[in-house]
Amino acid sequence: MNLIKEGSKLYSIFFNKCPRCNQANFWASNNPFKNIFLKNSEDLNSCSNCSLKYELEIGFWYGAMYISYALGVAVMLFFWGSLVFFLPLLNINLQVIIIVFGIILLAPVNYHLSRLIWINFFVDYKKEN
Ligand SMILES: [Zn+2]
Repeated sequence: MNLIKEGSKLYSIFFNKCPRCNQANFWASNNPFKNIFLKNSEDLNSCSNCSLKYELEIGFWYGAMYISYALGVAVMLFFWGSLVFFLPLLNINLQVIIIVFGIILLAPVNYHLSRLIWINFFVDYKKEN
């Protein structure tokens, strides 16, 4: 059973697929860390299947910063909530250090997902004939 079906935006976001055809990859690698450190954060410029140009207009990716910010806040809240729940007596300075470390550690995932989420706001799935 597959809860995230092909043709949905979640499928495109979580399986690194082109938002229009859901066939070809958006990023060169499915692994965000590999993309950042080995492939120089290279995204594919256009879809190899439906030839959708990913950068819809000049400066399009600036919008992904807002998504990235929201994801960063979500990560922070997750770490903070976990720390308060599991280690309620932990020193506040140590909590801040752990949260900052967590955000830095997950930055490649954040970058990876923010562009996929951003382009999915503007491009809808079209089933191929
Ligand atoms: Zn495509």
